[in-house]
Amino acid sequence: MTAPALDLHDSDASQVLRRVFGYDEFREGQREIIEHVVAGGDALVLMPTGGGKSLCYQIPALVRRGTGVVISPLIALMQDQVDALRALGVRADFLNSSLDYDQQRVVEATFRAGELDLLYLAPERLRLESTQKLLDGGDVALFAIDEAHCVSQWGHDFRPDYLALSALHERWPDVPRIALTATATPATHEEIATRLRLEDARHFVASFDRPNIQYRIAPKNEPKRQLLELLRTEHAGDAGIVYCLSRSSVEKTAEFLTANGITALPYHAGLDAGTRATNQARFLREDGVVIVATIAFGMGIDKPDVRFVAHLDLPKSVEGYYQETGRAGRDGLASTAWLAYGLQDVVQLRKLIDTSEGDDAHRRRQSRHLDSMLALCETVECRRVQLLAYFGQEGKPCGNCDTCLTPPESWDGTIAAQKLLSTVYRLDRERRQRFGAGHVIDILVGKKTPKVIQFDHDGLTVFGVGADLSANEWRGVVRQLLARGLLAVEPNHGTLALTEASASVLRREREVPMRREPERVSKTKLAKAA
Ligand code: ADP
Ligand code: ZN
Repeated sequence: MTAPALDLHDSDASQVLRRVFGYDEFREGQREIIEHVVAGGDALVLMPTGGGKSLCYQIPALVRRGTGVVISPLIALMQDQVDALRALGVRADFLNSSLDYDQQRVVEATFRAGELDLLYLAPERLRLESTQKLLDGGDVALFAIDEAHCVSQWGHDFRPDYLALSALHERWPDVPRIALTATATPATHEEIATRLRLEDARHFVASFDRPNIQYRIAPKNEPKRQLLELLRTEHAGDAGIVYCLSRSSVEKTAEFLTANGITALPYHAGLDAGTRATNQARFLREDGVVIVATIAFGMGIDKPDVRFVAHLDLPKSVEGYYQETGRAGRDGLASTAWLAYGLQDVVQLRKLIDTSEGDDAHRRRQSRHLDSMLALCETVECRRVQLLAYFGQEGKPCGNCDTCLTPPESWDGTIAAQKLLSTVYRLDRERRQRFGAGHVIDILVGKKTPKVIQFDHDGLTVFGVGADLSANEWRGVVRQLLARGLLAVEPNHGTLALTEASASVLRREREVPMRREPERVSKTKLAKAA
């Protein structure tokens, strides 16, 4: 199936934009990037998700002589991408492991005959000598390296096959290369340039601000119910993505929403390929479908009218959070990024890191990622300013995030922190049994639970000294101390423990300002999931 050839080699970029893609104007940054690559320059492009990266290599591929070779890790999406291009009359095809031998031979022959505008390749393909010979035997207009952050060993998406892409430059020194990513801190940015041998490339950095996305981070009480409230009050009938950490919570959440009258479909790696494909297709094609997914879902999904992205569990890094929330509102219309975050998230993620495989350096890195994410959750300043600062960009308080709209009250939590830490200290000295946050809070508020009585903890001098705060407020105190490293959880039992930094609080050498916990939302009647 070969689409009719378009003769575009004499046209300029704006003509291609109109004639092929049907758009009137370039978006911010696109023209400069396209002109630079058309002229044969190398480029490193940082643009947020939805910014319009694809055109930055598709148009030069059409304008330049030969085939644009696109390296992408998104094998599952190549067929869709190629279909979409063909529908526009672009001669596109792909080579990956999903093709059988005969199909591959056809694609290869089309490429050699110079009848392809774009050829998508999985990164592992390029390592094969046979693929390299194939490319030698044809005419390559440019190399586009999509999702270029996958080359970063420090990032969250590392793919070893990407390291081999540094060889492109040696073997084909005259072919321009354009690397694109939506996620990079200034440090990963430099790393991409070095590892891909793009030292001389021009860097194009678009603003990472997504003004139409409203960022909100809420304390997690009853996450499923909070989510339903959000969907009913603000997003009735809207398409959206709900992210959960585990497969089982994906299933339970999808069932819960369905039981409450919302079209919600699960998506995770444990489902068979057929179900995944069906659910993804329904999400893309039908109106108002909510997909409940692990992070396995979404990379490269192009659905412009996703009105909300909700996280029921804390993402492991700010990069991940930004990328996932970035799937909302690609059409530029108002959208919501909502995250429910609680004490248990901190405990769970710290535990995951402590027990993860890999060396200490790896654990330290993950720990830093988590710390930045926690800082974003606990900030009393504009979320957007904090988010942009993470990516090395400046911003002004936005008026379109929860902290701007309802500035959180802060309070002096120094005494509360001292009470809590000294209780942890007492229990630690007993060494009889492991005690988690719940038990520590019971002691502070003076609750005589069977466990408190069993261990004579109602006789401790700290018993009841925290009755001025509610259990919910105490959970907020524990969470904020954990987030700042003033308290730790032991990975095995979830026991609270002091850190080196705790001492400065106990010795009254530092103040501990805290964010006040908002009131819990009112109860509404909801169906229970089956
Ligand atoms: P990214 O890869 O940066 O996430 P895409 O390349 O998928 O973004 O583009 C996001 C959406 O914006 C797509 O639906 C695309 O067709 C559209 N788009 C890109 N450039 C333009 C433009 N100049 N005018 C209008 N729409 C555009
Ligand atoms: Zn703001």
